[in-house]
Amino acid sequence: METTQETLPTVVLKPGEADRLIAGHPWVYAGAVLRVTQTVADGDVVQVKDHRHRFLGVGFYNARSRIHVRVLSPDRVPIDVRFFAERIRAALALRRRYLPAATCFRVVNAESDFLSGLMVDKYEENLVVQTSALGMDQRKPMIVEALRSVLNPKAIVERNDIAARKFEGLPEVRGILWGDLPGELTVELHGLKFTVDLLGGHKTGLYLDQQTNYSQLAELISQRPGARVADCFSFSGGFGLHAARAGAARVHLIDQSEEALAAAHRHAEMNSLAERCSFEVANVFDWLKAQTTPAPQTTPAARYDVIVLDPPSFTRNRAAVPEALRGYKEIHLRALRLLPPDGLLVTFCCSHHVDARTFLDVILSAAFDSRRVVRRVATFGQAPDHPVIPSIPETEYLKGYALELAR
Ligand code: SAH
Repeated sequence: METTQETLPTVVLKPGEADRLIAGHPWVYAGAVLRVTQTVADGDVVQVKDHRHRFLGVGFYNARSRIHVRVLSPDRVPIDVRFFAERIRAALALRRRYLPAATCFRVVNAESDFLSGLMVDKYEENLVVQTSALGMDQRKPMIVEALRSVLNPKAIVERNDIAARKFEGLPEVRGILWGDLPGELTVELHGLKFTVDLLGGHKTGLYLDQQTNYSQLAELISQRPGARVADCFSFSGGFGLHAARAGAARVHLIDQSEEALAAAHRHAEMNSLAERCSFEVANVFDWLKAQTTPAPQTTPAARYDVIVLDPPSFTRNRAAVPEALRGYKEIHLRALRLLPPDGLLVTFCCSHHVDARTFLDVILSAAFDSRRVVRRVATFGQAPDHPVIPSIPETEYLKGYALELAR
């Protein structure tokens, strides 16, 4: 599959298109290409040059994708098992430095680790791989070999049942790439037990990008012993269970997925926290509305001291942003109304298309409409196993605030 370096087909860029690549961004869009020197099969390695024929790097070619080339290296390196092993080793070193105690984390986060189109999650001894680019997908055997040599896992699972693969002309598949996997695993996050079904589960595993934020929430809860907490969009209980263990008197977990809440319930029991937790399958929009619509002549009694909002990304693309902002505003308006005077709102936005400032503006507009003034007591980002490379804006997506009612 690999050609030698001298004979690599060359993708020549239009004038002005090289700077992004030099700054570290790996994507070459179809519109940036001046010409390709010879016929290339999709998925093959090419070299990229600027319009003056200065070498910029090597990467995977795919004419079927809007991203024509995904640059892998600014150097003339062969893309082989050694290349993958070195990249994975570097990515792992980063996690060991910034998340030294973690046993579950994202080992490789695509562009964040200069491996566009590859994600690898580690759940203790087991790995979950996702290849979202054709060139990466074709090299699964190399990647498996590299992962085995660096991490020596018990099992490597492929969870390629994601719709985005169609943009690269790839089908949806899932299965075991190497080793054996028990049906369900019990893993630990900060000493709390969670079960994950890496092969069968509807949503694989846990939201590892929130890992450090769980600890920050726990810290905030420990400063408010006896707090009553609503964990909205709870999934399998990440925030709720950390809150319960940190000293919350009661935690109510709300999610529209029955499967997710059943997992949350199981997790609460496994961690001996079930007595303090309650679970409700509901649409959070409807739930908040019901909580904030008092019977005539009454005002809503404060039932929660802390509300966590961790909705899914409401934006698949930029066009969906205005609608998403209306959604964000709605839940913030209701949550702010529901909180008592010194209540705490802990809120997240995982949409890349809504930046931190825009998110804060939406919250402020909700605060204005509900006649509240908020004090910011914490800011959140994605855990360090989802590194942000500022010259690749797409690598940054998760942000959040803890806001206390100040007035
Ligand atoms: N806080 C979770 C992750 C939340 S992911 C954790 O730390 O693990 C988003 C969750 O929102 C999913 O579980 C999904 O089922 C749920 N969800 C999406 N839209 C919803 C809605 N309108 N109402 C309630 N839950 C919703």
